[in-house]
Amino acid sequence: MTPSPRLLLTIDYESWFALSRRYDFLPPETRFQMDEEYSRRAIDPILEMLGNSKITFYLVGEMAGWYPELPEKISKAGHEVGFHCHVHRRLNNIHEIEKDLNASAEWIKKYNVRGYRAPMITTVEEVYPLLAKHNFTYSSSQYAPTGVTIKKGSIWEIPASTLPLLSMPDEFNAPRNMNLKLIRGGEFPYGSSFMSGLFRPIVYKIIEREFKAGKSPVIFLHPYELVRPLRWYARFAKDLLRDPSLLPFTFHKVNFLKDLLRNFPTSSMQDYIKELS
Ligand SMILES: [Zn+2]
Repeated sequence: MTPSPRLLLTIDYESWFALSRRYDFLPPETRFQMDEEYSRRAIDPILEMLGNSKITFYLVGEMAGWYPELPEKISKAGHEVGFHCHVHRRLNNIHEIEKDLNASAEWIKKYNVRGYRAPMITTVEEVYPLLAKHNFTYSSSQYAPTGVTIKKGSIWEIPASTLPLLSMPDEFNAPRNMNLKLIRGGEFPYGSSFMSGLFRPIVYKIIEREFKAGKSPVIFLHPYELVRPLRWYARFAKDLLRDPSLLPFTFHKVNFLKDLLRNFPTSSMQDYIKELS
């Protein structure tokens, strides 16, 4: 069954420094201090922006430890709480992925978490049986054309949206991340906040067109694009100089979010999957 079209808006809830890979291996305590309670303060304004629209948050597990009220508030407001790894970093080794998952086991169980999104939307094929073993229902850890949903054993993969400009790809094995290969293959990954940062009107138009075609775009934003961290550019300058391609992730996207919510119905990923199966 094809579910009715809706915007599958997701927020990867991570700290302001997660964009840079420089902090991934610092001691957890140092990352907590660097956050300076930004992630705790950002949640209320974001929930308010969402109004009555229901969406999915993928929460970084260590942050649920720093601020237990985060999953609590998200879930109380009627949104889905998903998992964005315990520590935000690129994980390609299945044993490390399982270790990371186990580190968050407690709150995953408490909030009945069923959805997984790998950081940087990059993962490996072996993640699917592992997610099944840990009672997940789905993953959103690849890029693929809107409407593509793939069953990997008992796990659904609901990819972040791309628009295929040349031909429809026919292989959906992880990793399918945002890289040159994907773009050379003719896919425009408009679901990424990198693209909505650079090409907002175009991304909006694509979403509109996908809707008319009865599809449900999967797009993601980050808290730091909605609630500006204090002294962010000053603190992040070094990272931006080292990797200027991070810049579109730092643009303010509140108006983009408001436009989307005004014009498109949303739902959580889990509600979408219920209609799929
Ligand atoms: Zn992330």
